[in-house]
Parts: sequence; structure tokens; C-alpha cells
Amino acid sequence: MFFILLGAPGAGKGTQADIIVKEMSLPHVASGDLFRHALKNGTELGKQAESYMKGGKLVPDEITIKMILERIAQPDCKNGCVFDGFPRTIEQAKALDAALEKQGKSIEEAIYIEVPSEVLLDRLTGRWVCRTCQSPYHQKNSPPRKEGVCDKCSGELYQRADDTEVTIKERLKVYFAQTMPLLDYYEKKDRLFKVNGNQHIDSVGKDIVKFLKGLKQKK
Ligand code: ADP
Ligand code: AMP
Repeated sequence: MFFILLGAPGAGKGTQADIIVKEMSLPHVASGDLFRHALKNGTELGKQAESYMKGGKLVPDEITIKMILERIAQPDCKNGCVFDGFPRTIEQAKALDAALEKQGKSIEEAIYIEVPSEVLLDRLTGRWVCRTCQSPYHQKNSPPRKEGVCDKCSGELYQRADDTEVTIKERLKVYFAQTMPLLDYYEKKDRLFKVNGNQHIDSVGKDIVKFLKGLKQKK
């Protein structure tokens, strides 16, 4: 089963991915994490992506699609995965559909985490992420038990270089222009589930789990 998490930067995709991954026993495929990993390791992919990421722009489709198709060809994705941050353009969505179709597979559902744009800046400027396991925290909304330390793996928490006000504004502009059209794309395929992301993290999670349980029962 392939799921997609849709939503603006800061909507809570990474936060809720954890819940879906556990509920459905699927791997988490986060395009941003894959790019940051490549950047950290100084690979060719990292070098290609760096300037776009710094500026809050999208990495070109050709590079992004290649990276994702290679990732889902790994054995752990043979029964599906939870995409987070991919697709972000219609071109990417079409390439994913075509690749899955070749294997007789398709997207089960795109889960859209709906959040009013006013709350996103505060969520992103207050975000701290684990260097080791990438779990997201928030200094007010979801603080770790011990400051600067990940609850799950004791890794060090850091603030992303692109979580600054100027870059966040650019990322939101890009989201509205290039990624929002995906809502229509999946709605037309009758594959869009909307969840209210402007409630407590646990409540968003409960709504998603309820939906997934319903889906499992239908199977
Ligand atoms: P995304 O992956 O969509 O960019 P994250 O999951 O990293 O978003 O969440 C962005 C920030 O908002 C993090 O600091 C996270 O702790 C916080 N956050 C996530 N969901 C909620 C929520 N429902 N209410 C308040 N804060 C949230
Ligand atoms: P994220 O971690 O999802 O917020 O992504 C961080 C950055 O990585 C984005 O601002 C883009 O520069 C790049 N990126 C992540 N996913 C994609 C994608 N699907 N298409 C293009 N660029 C992406």
C-alpha cells in the first residue's frame, strides 16, 4: 500500500508519518530527509540539490523523481511506503503513478493535512529535528522531555537551515503555486482524505488512524 502525506511545510507530515508507519507497518520515504542525507554526505545528488534547498525552491523534477524511484525499488518498499514531501508537482505525481502502474500497483490514498497558513510560520521557526532519527519536535507545541535531546533515540536536536523566516516564506509560495494543484489531482481520482491538522497532534493522529482502520476493514 502506497500512501502520500500532503500538506504545506509545517502542516505536520513528518509528525504524523510516524503514526501511519506504525499502524500500517510501512517504511517512511521523506524526500527532504533523503536530500539532507545526500547533502551531509557530500554526494553528487547532494551537490545538485543544495542551492535549491537553501533558497526554498524545489529541486528539479528529473533529479527528484530519479531519487524516489531508486528509493522505492529497495526491497523494504515492495509492499508499499508512506511518502512525505513527495510528490510536490503534477509532473512528479504522474511519474510516480506511471512507475507504480508498471508493477500493477497504485496510490492507496493521499492524506491531506489541512492547516491554516497563519500557523505555519510559528510551527517552522519553533521546529527542532533529531539529527539521528529525524523526529520533529516543537519548542512550545511538542517539546522533548530533555532540552536538545531526542526522546526516541537520545540524538541531538537541531534547527534546519531552511527554517528561517525568509526561506519559509519562499517555501510557502512554492507550495501554493506548485504543490496545491495536487489536491485536485488526487481528488479527481477519488484518492484524497482530508484531515484537520489544526488540532492537537494526538487528535490529528487519532483521525488518521480511524481512517486507516476503516480502510483495512474494507480490504
Ligand atoms: P512537515 O513535515 O509537514 O513540514 P512537521 O511534522 O515537521 O511538518 O511539523 C512542523 C512543526 O510543527 C514541528 O515543530 C512539529 O512539532 C509541529 N507540529 C506538528 N503537528 C502539530 C500540531 N498538530 N499542532 C501543533 N504543532 C504541530
Ligand atoms: P522538506 O524536508 O520536505 O521540507 O524539504 C526540504 C527541501 O528539499 C525543499 O524545500 C526542497 O528544496 C527539497 N525537496 C524535498 N522534497 C522535494 C520534492 N518532492 N521536489 C522538489 N524538491 C524537494
